[in-house]
Amino acid sequence: SSESTESVISTESTGKSGDSSTPFRVVLLGASGVGKSAIASIFAGAVDSMDCEECELYTDEVCEQTLTVDGENATVTLLDTWDSQDDGGCTQDKCIATGDAYLLVYSITDRSSFLRASELRISLRRHRPAQHTPIILVGNKCDLVRRREVSVSEGRACAAVFDCKFIETSAAMQHNVWTAFHGIVQQLRLRRDSKEN
Ligand code: GDP
Ligand code: MG
Repeated sequence: SSESTESVISTESTGKSGDSSTPFRVVLLGASGVGKSAIASIFAGAVDSMDCEECELYTDEVCEQTLTVDGENATVTLLDTWDSQDDGGCTQDKCIATGDAYLLVYSITDRSSFLRASELRISLRRHRPAQHTPIILVGNKCDLVRRREVSVSEGRACAAVFDCKFIETSAAMQHNVWTAFHGIVQQLRLRRDSKEN
């Protein structure tokens, strides 16, 4: 094929994104230590417990699998490459530009990670100026109630300002993590369907 890698990982979803031939690319963003890899391993863990033939692509940082959301299959490639590209500059820019959708993760026990999520939301707006890029602001570690530094209402208010969805999760307790994955697929479908019409 004469298609360059650049166009294969094109940021623009085609009408077919998310079906078995063209997976949705979902990128985990957020400060180091917030639980991105823990969230990715729950996603990957489902591959192990299911049919491993379903898993077409799997490394520590990239995992692809098919989920059933609202009775319809969706193939999702989850990218946990953010921290490994933490040399700043152009590789992170590329990472931020290659998603169809983003899980913007902070830890409810770490206010600085919440502020970092806001900065990343601004970077996303710069790199992905298209309207309605599916983004969920994810407040992880909600099991650590006594160490909470960011309230639920602050998280929700921030998501409203940044025009994205909001959810609190606990990767440790496996709480709401799948709800977040399903939510991002639902948003991706809404965006795809609105483009088709
Ligand atoms: P990353 O740097 O964003 O990939 O964060 P990691 O997934 O490596 O998690 C950093 C630390 O936080 C690890 O010690 C995890 O076990 C812990 N951790 C991740 N998610 C949770 C959670 O939901 N609750 C608790 N209590 N700890 C978590
Ligand atoms: Mg990590």
